[in-house]
Amino acid sequence: MSISANEALSRIKVTAGTRPASDGRRLRVARRAMQWGALALAVLIPLTGLFRIDPAAATFVVLDRQIWFADFFIVAGFWLALSSILVMTYSMVGAAFCGWVCPQNTFSEWANRVTKRLLGKHAEVSLSGESLHVSAGKKSWFNWLLLGLLLSGAAMLLALIPLLYFYPPTALWSFITFRHDARLAPSLHWIYTVFVLIILVDIAVVRHFFCRFMCIYRVWQHSFKTTHTLHIAYDDARTARCAACNYCLTVCPVEIDPRNTRLYDSCINCGACISACDSLQYKTGEPGLLSFEFGERRLSRLAGQALAAGSKIKSNLGTLLGRFSWSLPFTLIGMALFVWGMVSYQPYHLTVYRADANQGAAIQDYRVALANKLYRPQRLKLSVQGLPEGSYTLSAQEASFASAGRRDVMLTLHPGLPRGVHRFVVSMESEQGVRVDYRATHVVTGS
Ligand code: SF4
Ligand code: SF4
Repeated sequence: MSISANEALSRIKVTAGTRPASDGRRLRVARRAMQWGALALAVLIPLTGLFRIDPAAATFVVLDRQIWFADFFIVAGFWLALSSILVMTYSMVGAAFCGWVCPQNTFSEWANRVTKRLLGKHAEVSLSGESLHVSAGKKSWFNWLLLGLLLSGAAMLLALIPLLYFYPPTALWSFITFRHDARLAPSLHWIYTVFVLIILVDIAVVRHFFCRFMCIYRVWQHSFKTTHTLHIAYDDARTARCAACNYCLTVCPVEIDPRNTRLYDSCINCGACISACDSLQYKTGEPGLLSFEFGERRLSRLAGQALAAGSKIKSNLGTLLGRFSWSLPFTLIGMALFVWGMVSYQPYHLTVYRADANQGAAIQDYRVALANKLYRPQRLKLSVQGLPEGSYTLSAQEASFASAGRRDVMLTLHPGLPRGVHRFVVSMESEQGVRVDYRATHVVTGS
């Protein structure tokens, strides 16, 4: 009896795969480490002062320095490097951020695990489309109470993370310990309570419903995918293994069929399906039927096997390098601008304005605006050069700052200056000897 080429190939046992058999634990552990590591990083970034926001001054703060829009190199360099890295990442690994980093997914998965442990393996309490049910043997008020306490505790901790980005750690400690602190907004306890409630509803009920139907960022990441982006490959030479098995489908958080992923589907490259299938196939001594793959999507692994391993690696490498070649220059330029901006950063700012008080009449008053952009005490001394002695008055010779902030000092020119153009320089000097000059011009038209 003659058989087709496909049938013949499908009877060949595929063991010499691109990867060895695995019980799926390594990938699972790697993903968990990445998820919790990302969360730890989200806490450490503001705690170490690497980045936060000062709402009172309406500025970003990097390493205890206020970053104004006037700090062009820092702002432009940061956004150029970040956006080019992100676009390159989206086009290389698709929406892997959702599966490996995003706290929404991390806490939805954690909430699912806790729910299953307390209410039963098949318990369902979230917006998954299934009706609410718990295992008969787990129906106890204690289990519900424990679940409620765990979810509430997680919501209370999570709601503190955004606050870390708006308040220094010492101010947040005052908030947690109910101590008065002038740096805290009077309504902060209400804001925090609203945060906690939103997060509690999210991790208790919404969970992956948000990822599937509400997250715009996932859609944004998908829009940069190409046919070469990281995706799930299915070994359809061993499709018989899937008979009476849908384990990978049951673990998929976005409820798609991992055996048939498409370019613009909801896959977040979390790898849960790979770990699940690996764990099933491990006892047969073979790798699972699912794997991560870069490069051109293939309709069939059978067709793919015709591609020589060397040319496949070359093609995938070529794809990656092709992406790097256009995005890397932007990343490098952005980084260079950022570093230059940080090196040439001006910690103090000085501007001289004409004061409005004498509008309509001859201008005699100038407002000297001083700013300390560093979050540490500073005393800035003022002086004026280019005007005759006794022809002006400064309302203060120096300005003291307990931390970052702004002060205004009035400079009044006395009547009696001769007609003409008077160019003068207002100088400001820090205790460390850093000097900033501002050149101004005063015109006397009358007699
Ligand atoms: S877990 Fe593996 S064997 Fe089971 S259906 Fe999915 S791909 Fe097939
Ligand atoms: S198909 Fe696999 S990798 Fe994609 S979201 Fe589902 S479980 Fe995760």
